[in-house]
Amino acid sequence: MESKYNFNISSFQKLFKIEHNWFHIKRHFASVSKHLTYRKIKNLVSVEMQRRLKTPVIKGYPPFLKLEPTNLCNLKCPNCFTGSGADKRGKGMMDFDLYKKVIDEIGDYLIKINFYFWGEPFLHHRLFDMISYASERNIGSCVSTNFLIFSEVKAEKLLTSGLDHLIICFDGVDQKTYESYRKGGSYRKFIRNMEILSETRLKKNLYSTIIDVQFLVFDYNRDQIEEAKKLLIPFGFDRFTPKMNAEQKDPYDPSLFRPNVPCYWLWLVPTIGWDGIVTPCCDMPPHDFGDLNKHSFMEVFNGEQYVKARRLYKYDDPEKSKSICAFCHRGPNEKYKKKLAGMNFQGPRIFFSDTKRPWE
Ligand code: SF4
Repeated sequence: MESKYNFNISSFQKLFKIEHNWFHIKRHFASVSKHLTYRKIKNLVSVEMQRRLKTPVIKGYPPFLKLEPTNLCNLKCPNCFTGSGADKRGKGMMDFDLYKKVIDEIGDYLIKINFYFWGEPFLHHRLFDMISYASERNIGSCVSTNFLIFSEVKAEKLLTSGLDHLIICFDGVDQKTYESYRKGGSYRKFIRNMEILSETRLKKNLYSTIIDVQFLVFDYNRDQIEEAKKLLIPFGFDRFTPKMNAEQKDPYDPSLFRPNVPCYWLWLVPTIGWDGIVTPCCDMPPHDFGDLNKHSFMEVFNGEQYVKARRLYKYDDPEKSKSICAFCHRGPNEKYKKKLAGMNFQGPRIFFSDTKRPWE
């Protein structure tokens, strides 16, 4: 039975037409709320209004950012664009000066940066400098990691960097189960790194980072959820988050395709690849919407590719478009979305293969 609490939440979401589910709102709220200022709230409300009005050229700045420190990874997770080998971009790490250029341009309006995309962020040798640079400007931060590249030195740097939210990923309580998804990962090393983090936190009394341990739930590890929860108790971390449906076996439910609702990625959350290429989202393969090595951030964010994609919701015909957004479950092409209905949840991920990319 639906509780009163759930009812209130869903009413609140309906009233304000919030698309993100409560799982995401709850998960990120603490690290977002403490960085709000009058200027940021004003910008957020303004850009959100423009999204609802389907304005193609935005007056204002993105309130959130997804940023890829690197697309290198130490593992080969099968559902990942990098781990599966489908990412054909060159490999590399974001240049620190390029990162600073972006933050100096739009940082006054940024509420939060998620420092992860396709790759293991802890492989970037200046990740903690990036986080500190954001933190000094009152920008919230989150990192998601497989947590295998770690040490005592890194533990102290992490806990003093100003990082708001650390998501640590593991999916099994023994080596065999763990490496079913985390291909090439050592369960022993993972547990040792958890001990290092827990001990450093306790010894130095550093508690400002929310430590959130995520467990991707597959059929083969469903029976280990309770055991994983118990295993984590001695570490004293803040959250345990089982993430359901990791196998994404369910077909697309057509009721989820809300007709002509402008995609929040296009207005609110741009993504920057390690090489400075801006791409619209992480729902589809990286796509070149503009190069920050040649242009300012706002030139790209209101550049030809972004405006073309936003226009599809109100002004242009998505069925005649070759924009990547016309081939997406969040996009404006209702006919195409009907084709996706009933397909496996990994619908867009079929485009990870080289052969099926209708926008190219
Ligand atoms: S590709 Fe889809 S999810 Fe990504 S920005 Fe376009 S409509 Fe949104």
